[in-house]
Amino acid sequence: MNLYAFCENGPANHIDPLGLDTNDITKSSNPAVTGGKKSCCSVEDKLKELEKMIKNAVEKTQNDSISISVVLTRSQLIQFANSKDPIKIPEPKILHREYAGYICCDEATGEVSSTGPFPGTWRLSNGDYSDNPNVLANATGFQPTSGNVSVDDNAKCGKGLTPVAYYHSHPPESQGFSKGDEGSFLPIALGIPGWNKWLLFNPTTRKQFTYEYTEDIK
Ligand SMILES: [Zn+2]
Repeated sequence: MNLYAFCENGPANHIDPLGLDTNDITKSSNPAVTGGKKSCCSVEDKLKELEKMIKNAVEKTQNDSISISVVLTRSQLIQFANSKDPIKIPEPKILHREYAGYICCDEATGEVSSTGPFPGTWRLSNGDYSDNPNVLANATGFQPTSGNVSVDDNAKCGKGLTPVAYYHSHPPESQGFSKGDEGSFLPIALGIPGWNKWLLFNPTTRKQFTYEYTEDIK
């Protein structure tokens, strides 16, 4: 069956009813990912699924944190030892885990589905990822967020499904997309605990959209 032809003959899904660029989430920005095929799934269905999964991811991030006591470096210890001031022990850092997943499209049926939200792995400042408590306790620094779902094959859309967007949550202290996020192959959505809106960024057009959460989705 020629899925491309099916899509072309299907309902007018290529017209964007929400005023977004058609290219934004109806088509992957990476032809290697989609096999160059156009998606048949409606923009409304994708946005609905995105909002549902972002809410889900944000809630998980809110409830998933660890407290890490800061390990003093040798030079800091010497500095403290030489100082007449009392030694100040740094507050433990609270780190919130990032969650992420994919929005998928069945190009044959036009049905939208998703994967996740999957927990990210703690990311250390040296670029390593780890969930090992001993590694975490001795790490000299952390990125404030985590997440390496894009390298996990189990997190990806199932066979025959086309990934149309990537969604994820950031910790509460986040201000928005990271540099890495902006390098995403797929349109990427972001939710942050405490925010009443979520963000969608298209790496191809470099456009960012902001959406209010609707009431009817839990
Ligand atoms: Zn991010």
